[in-house]
Parts: sequence; structure tokens; C-alpha cells
Amino acid sequence: MGKRKDRKHELERYSRGRLQMTLSRWVVNSLDEDYAFDFEVRPTEGFETDSRDKHGNKVLPSPFYVQLKSSEKFNDQESVWHDLDTDFLIEDCLQASIPVVLVICDRDWEELYWCVLQSYCWDVLDEERNEWREQSEVRVRIERKPLSDSIKLSELRSALQEAEHRLSTRHYVASARRGTLHHPAKMDVASSTQVREYKREVVEDALDIASAGRIERALSKLMEVYQMAEEDEQTLEAVRYLLELRVVDGPGSALTKISLANVGLRLADQFEREGLLDEFETHADDAIEYLDETFIGAQYRGPRGLPIRILGLGPMGSVEIGMIAHVQHGFELTDLNAQTIAEGDQYERIESGKSNDPVSEACAEREHDFGIKELRDTPAAAICSACGLSHVVIEEWLSHDVPHVCDGCGEIAYEVEIQVNDSRTRERLLCTGCT
Ligand SMILES: [Zn+2]
Ligand SMILES: [Zn+2]
Repeated sequence: MGKRKDRKHELERYSRGRLQMTLSRWVVNSLDEDYAFDFEVRPTEGFETDSRDKHGNKVLPSPFYVQLKSSEKFNDQESVWHDLDTDFLIEDCLQASIPVVLVICDRDWEELYWCVLQSYCWDVLDEERNEWREQSEVRVRIERKPLSDSIKLSELRSALQEAEHRLSTRHYVASARRGTLHHPAKMDVASSTQVREYKREVVEDALDIASAGRIERALSKLMEVYQMAEEDEQTLEAVRYLLELRVVDGPGSALTKISLANVGLRLADQFEREGLLDEFETHADDAIEYLDETFIGAQYRGPRGLPIRILGLGPMGSVEIGMIAHVQHGFELTDLNAQTIAEGDQYERIESGKSNDPVSEACAEREHDFGIKELRDTPAAAICSACGLSHVVIEEWLSHDVPHVCDGCGEIAYEVEIQVNDSRTRERLLCTGCT
């Protein structure tokens, strides 16, 4: 008996050591027996890559709890498991205010495996095992995805962020339903059904408010639903009415509508609402047409006072996140966040893009007009006096041939050769006549 206890104690020590080692870059606080959980972990680094939510806001990692379980070995190549008390899941995990990560240590494989317990309850148990709340114990089975790899690959970070977003949505819904403000030690967490029901009520409210003519208020209610975690059919409804009620009154709202329409297209497909696809396509097309007319070709003054000319638009990774503008900034060819230019305080519009199409208004190839002095001294910064595009933009964005000044005869030439004399003198450009 004593020997077995020793062995168990030794296994526990091993798994705690292994966890501390794996999370060594973070603050790992061991919690005493009064707490429901074994550790509280505060990530401090290692989430290096800029992490952003679907609205492009920067997200910092928050603390989470760890419940550590260990086993000598599992006779299974694919998964590991532990039987947890149902009370622990319902009373402690599902009422925790931050994510709870179950970590299972497999001594034989010398690895740690993990899952976020709240997500497991909502997505696996609630969805697939209806009766789990009636049992005294529940088997939690997780795939063999090593914790150390998940930290490296940022999988843990994404899972924690998603869980946090879902938790904040559920806390919010629970407090909205309760109607009074109080701060219990344990958080009230709404169920999946309550979240769906709440979203449905807010969408309905928004439509009533809209029909009473208070469009701004209706839009902000719909936005609230749109930003809540766990996309469902109510998210789709919110997107639908956001698109319907929002009038395009500038490039900023047109850009927002393009993102929303793309979210709508994905959700309509996901929830098999093909009837909405045409509607969303039309919203996106109208907004793109508006931007073509007013934004592309427009001139802004940027934060450093330099002129910015909008040359074109492209998706920012995914169009759902937003769009980038390809711009001539001063003389440079660069990419900026289109929404920031359209709505940022630091950008002032000098000229609208109306009837300005940078491609069709550019000079024909080899007909750009550069000052010879500028072209000789600072060729990349030279700007064509006829179309306003810079040397580098003409070369890299229009793919036109660009002229150079011959270092031999001083004339402007398109065909030049680079001549390198030695390491101390700078390279010379020579026209075909001078080589
Ligand atoms: Zn030109
Ligand atoms: Zn020459």
C-alpha cells in the first residue's frame, strides 16, 4: 500500500516538474488545496507573433488555470484520457472566469497533452453526450497533441483566446439576463441556449428600433451581436441587417461593408442560407464600385505631411479582416491599412478619387516627364510632372520602362548599362552610345 502511494507521489512530482519545465518562460503559480485548480499560469512571452482578433484588435494573453493529471502509460497511440468528477466540471470549470486547461501527463511517452475544459464541455459533452451532467464522473479524452508543440505553434494561444471570447460573451449574457449588477465570487456563465436566445432578442430589438427610425442605435445593437463569440444564425442575421441598414457615406463605411459582406457570404454558406448569397454579393459589389469611384485615385495628406495617392486595393490576408491600399506615399510604393486612411484622424483627404484612375491617367510607357536634375541626383524619388507618379511606382507598379541619366554624356536614356570600376568609385550608368 505504502509503496503504491510512493509511486503515485513520485509520478505526481514528475508531472509537476515536466509542466514547470514546459511553461518555464511564464509565471506558473502553484495553488494550494483550497483552490479547485492546481496552477494559475500567466503567459509573459512566447506569444511573440502579433495576435489579433477578427476585428484586427491586438490581443494580449490572459492568465489561465491548469488542472494537472498524470498516468504511467496509456495503451493508445491516438489519445489520452482522465475521468473527472462531474461536479468539478460543472461547479468549478464552468463557473471559472478564465480558461481552465486540463493537462494530462503520460510518463511512458514523456509528454504532456492538453485541452481547454470549458470548450470541451460546450463542444464535446453538451453536443455529443446529452446525459453527462447526470453522471458522477466524465471521461475527458484528448488527442496526443504535445503541449510544448502547441505553445510553439501558437495553438494554445488561439484556443485560449477563443475560450476567453466565449467566456466573456457568456458572462455578458448571464449578467444581461440577470439585469442587476453584482460581482459573485464565481461567475455566472450563460448556457449555449441562453447565448443564442439573447442574440435573437437583441436582433429583434434592433429591428424594432430601426423601424422607429433610430438607425444608429439599431446598428450598434446589431454590432453587439456580431461581435459576440460563437458565430451562429443570429450572427448571420446581425450581418444581414447591418448591411441593409448601413448607408455608404464614405470610403470607411464602404470598406466595412465589404468585410461584413464577406463574413455574411461565409456564414450563409455555413448555415445553408443560399437565399442570402445574392444579397451579400450585391452589397459587396456596390461597395467596391463606390471605392473604385471615390477612393482609388484619391489623394490624402499623411501623418508626416507627405502626399498619399491611392493606387489600388487588395485583401488584408482575408477580406473579412479588411483591405490594404497600395499607395504612393511621398515617392515610395507601399501598402497601408485602407480603413486607417479612410477614417484615421491623421489622414486628410486633399482630393477625391472621382474620375481619377491612376492607371488610365498615367502617361503612356516612355512618355513620362522627369526633370533631368532630379533624375540624375535622386532617381528613385523623381516624380513625373505629367501624371504625378514616381520613378519607383512607374517601374514597379505600372511595370513601365523608366529612364536614367547617362553618367557619360548626361543625356536621358532608357537603355543603360551598369559599369563597376572598383570598390571605391560608385557604379556608373552608361547609355549604349557611351559604353
Ligand atoms: Zn507620367
Ligand atoms: Zn551617354
